[in-house]
Amino acid sequence: MKIDDKYLVFDPTEIEVLGNALLSKQLSGTSQYIELYEKKLSEFFGIKYAIAVSSGSAALHAALYSLGVRDGDEILIPAISPIPTVLPIITSHAIPKLVDTDPMGFGFDIDDLKRKITKKTKAAMLVPLWGYPIDYDPILRILKQHNMPLIEDAAQAHGTRVRGKYVGTFGDIGCFSTHDRKILSTGEGGFILTNREDVYKTVKKFIQLGTMDGTTYGVNYKLSTLQAALGMHRIKQIPRQIGKRKKNKQLLMELLSRSLIQELPVIKDGEPNYYSLVLYLPWGKLKNQKFIDALASKGIPSDILRYDYKPIYERPLFSSFTSDCPNALSLLHHITTIPVHPKISIKEIHYMAAILKSTAMEV
Ligand SMILES: *Cc1c(COP(=O)(O)O)cnc(C)c1O
Repeated sequence: MKIDDKYLVFDPTEIEVLGNALLSKQLSGTSQYIELYEKKLSEFFGIKYAIAVSSGSAALHAALYSLGVRDGDEILIPAISPIPTVLPIITSHAIPKLVDTDPMGFGFDIDDLKRKITKKTKAAMLVPLWGYPIDYDPILRILKQHNMPLIEDAAQAHGTRVRGKYVGTFGDIGCFSTHDRKILSTGEGGFILTNREDVYKTVKKFIQLGTMDGTTYGVNYKLSTLQAALGMHRIKQIPRQIGKRKKNKQLLMELLSRSLIQELPVIKDGEPNYYSLVLYLPWGKLKNQKFIDALASKGIPSDILRYDYKPIYERPLFSSFTSDCPNALSLLHHITTIPVHPKISIKEIHYMAAILKSTAMEV
């Protein structure tokens, strides 16, 4: 059996949705559809402003720009941030500063966070990987003391909640991707959430070539009408999609209940969106690698393998950003991901549970 890690949506009613958008004959990123899409987004997330942009990467770059990030500024990021989180920092000519993670989660280690904040620090960025919620309170307390803005890279966390509040609305700016692999997909695309009017105004100008009169800098990061039409149609399906993912995860964990395999602990009052199920495995680095490889040979994919997950400074492009991050390393050596998206069948869940159990005995 080969388990597909990609959830591709197709709903025939979308042909009509796109047809209607075409009939409007206004396909650019300044059409009425964009406004409607942004309104739907802000309503869904319960936030003042939403801005549609052309990708998650564009959202991150625009967010950094709007906070005044320029040459040489330092941006705090978790030590296991993925490459797309780091690239927009480089694009902004800023310096990614790695902060160690929690031993059992993707938030910052509070002591290391305190150590890493300096005069050069301009902002902090959190990444709720695979849609797992982060314990925001202690982090926000420290950031507030230093008057430090928070950007959330919530590209994998549409619909994840903490105490009923959506991830991406905890910091100053929430950045999302709507790439084809994400929970809300428009093929390519992204959006920004904020309650700050200054950020909203700056981003709005920045993503549409500034003010076009040569006084304000900008780039073209606008989303097109067809993508917005699709996004608008798909937002309302998010809760049902997450419900299905949660059900799949529950069945799998029930089947694994008498084994050593556990889910990564979810923080109190946190609700992951199950973009992926993250397993926490009791064994260390070498055994974890063997375990992940053995699963792959039986058709069970892992994002750890697919993206060759490792601390960012182990990549040539980022080799100068080394940092001591024992918790992040340990965390990486204890986890793997399992797809639980709505296209996974009951039969596949039983298959995965059986393989997980037998492989756990072998490695
Ligand atoms: C997908 C992703 C991005 C980049 O989004 P794009 O739309 O592909 O540019 C950034 N950060 C994280 C955590 C992601 O998963």
